Amino acid sequence: MKHELTRRIFTACMLVFVLTIGLVLFVMERYQEKQARSEVQEQTEDLISVMEESGTELLGQFTDAGQMEITVFAKDGTVRFASGSAPETGEAFQDALAGGTGRSETWEGPLHRRFTYAAQLPNGQSVIQVSIKQDPVWALLLNMATPLLVLVLLMVLLSMLIAAQFSMKIMKPINALDVENPDDRDIYDEMKPFVRQIMTQNQQIYRQMSELKEEHRKQDAMRREFTANVSHELKTPLTSISGFAEIMRDGMVQEKDIAHFADNIYHEAQRLILLVNDILKLSRLEADGSQQEERTSVELFGLCREAASRLSLNAAKQDVALSCEGEQVTVSGMRRLLEEIVYNVCDNAIKYNREGGSVRMTTGTEDGMAFVRVQDNGIGIPLADQGRIFERFYRVNKSHSKEVGGTGLGLSIVKHGMLLHGGEITLKSAPDWGTEITLWFPLGTETPQTPAN
Ligand code: ADP
Repeated sequence: MKHELTRRIFTACMLVFVLTIGLVLFVMERYQEKQARSEVQEQTEDLISVMEESGTELLGQFTDAGQMEITVFAKDGTVRFASGSAPETGEAFQDALAGGTGRSETWEGPLHRRFTYAAQLPNGQSVIQVSIKQDPVWALLLNMATPLLVLVLLMVLLSMLIAAQFSMKIMKPINALDVENPDDRDIYDEMKPFVRQIMTQNQQIYRQMSELKEEHRKQDAMRREFTANVSHELKTPLTSISGFAEIMRDGMVQEKDIAHFADNIYHEAQRLILLVNDILKLSRLEADGSQQEERTSVELFGLCREAASRLSLNAAKQDVALSCEGEQVTVSGMRRLLEEIVYNVCDNAIKYNREGGSVRMTTGTEDGMAFVRVQDNGIGIPLADQGRIFERFYRVNKSHSKEVGGTGLGLSIVKHGMLLHGGEITLKSAPDWGTEITLWFPLGTETPQTPAN
């Protein structure tokens, strides 16, 4: 950059130098031409008076070191007096014959030497013609080649020096600019927009960085909380199992109670399996796309019928009536995951119901979306808990959830699964009225989303 800058400034200096020389030569040439014209004119006037007084005899004295030639022609062109060797009748002579005065210029020879002529017909008898020959200005410069060469070299050197000096001066505040923390007071006006742009970009970067940090901090906190929750949830059944086994090992259980204890151990172990399964499902849902199953066309009404039939025994046990209605509607999705989602929601509607209650599943389309709605007239969810039931391990009533075999992860799986399908969940619930959860799916080709936490 610095060298490039030096080169450009040097080029500019040289350009100005060459242009100046050219311009000076041009102006000098013009000036010389003008001078020559007025000089031949004046000389002609003077020589006419000399001629009127003493004829052509004295004319010879007026030639100026061979630069000026004086010729007197008769009207027919014969030479009556000539100071030079090869007098010629030219344009100036013709014009003088025709109109009394004449003027012309010719250029001759390899040097392009200029001849300036003036001619007059003072007495109607003879034409007096004065000419001056001059070398062009650049030819004069040629005579001064050596000092000129030195001058040019000096100019080149000076230009280089100026270029180096200038580029150093220009670059100094730029090099001194602290990009991390720029200050537009330290720099010249032309650079200010650039510096301000850096300042704005820096601010943007800082803002984005702090946003990212905040995001990381939140994710970290969530991960820690999840790990703590998982440990706690796993510890409870393990502690029970360990306690039962210890009592049995120490022979503190009567023969008749062994089956009961074994049953407790079995149930706690089942709970552990349930928990581990749900945790695995959740972590798979949060993993990248490559770990998700493939999308196919999935018919939602059929899905509800399947879930209902798998849960019919549970429903019957709890004396809850289960029904499916609505129309067939197909969405693009991951079949196994959709089965899991519908199963979980329907399972909850049975688990958190009351004796003699009912669960109604409906499918259809509304506002350009496909939906599965699960309504129950069970215990309902208090308003304060409604915003949190999709969090991991969140349960409105922990002991009740445990009693009915819940892990607190079912709705988290539903939430993540719906996000992967680009869907939405709406919830309506009130204690003792019941709960209505609607799963909304985009119709047609939707783009899958990565789940947020
Ligand atoms: P769980 O395994 O405890 O059922 P979920 O994530 O499936 O966990 O549900 C979280 C909590 O939301 C449940 O513990 C329960 O308190 C509440 N809940 C979910 N569905 C219903 C429902 N249909 N009626 C009443 N409460 C519900």
